[in-house]
Amino acid sequence: MHRIYETDDLVVFWDSEKCRHQKKCVGGSPRTFDPQRRPWIDLNKAPASEIWQAIEQCPTRALTCVYSHGIRVEFDEEQCRSAAYDGDRQVGECDFQKTPEGWVIYHTETDPAYGGKGIAKRLVYKVAEAAERAGVNVIPTCSYAVKVLKKES
Ligand code: SF4
Repeated sequence: MHRIYETDDLVVFWDSEKCRHQKKCVGGSPRTFDPQRRPWIDLNKAPASEIWQAIEQCPTRALTCVYSHGIRVEFDEEQCRSAAYDGDRQVGECDFQKTPEGWVIYHTETDPAYGGKGIAKRLVYKVAEAAERAGVNVIPTCSYAVKVLKKES
């Protein structure tokens, strides 16, 4: 299961399959990470610096994070895509096709001028989370989505 949590400052990714429930994150920021709460992650409970440090303690990289850099990422099921925006300017896109087997992610791209900000990962996670919430399989075929969803380190 893939989940993405966002504030104006911070974007946090959680891959449940990598979580070994060692609770280092909980120890680092108990007000942010509370396994008894739903959703168990609430980024509004602590400063971004505290959350960032807690995530650095995660031994499996089930949790990772990036700063948002003012970039907004939106999911659009009708258009079968997620898109990233800097103000009005589109700076990235992840496209999928609905098939009987699931949502096939076939294209992920970000403006090279916006590289290194985790935008492509945000785009892929937005689609993956939406598919999983809808009870649909996610089938990554573009190389970036495969890397993020299957072999993320
Ligand atoms: S520190 Fe990482 S592996 Fe441990 S409970 Fe938190 S997310 Fe899971």
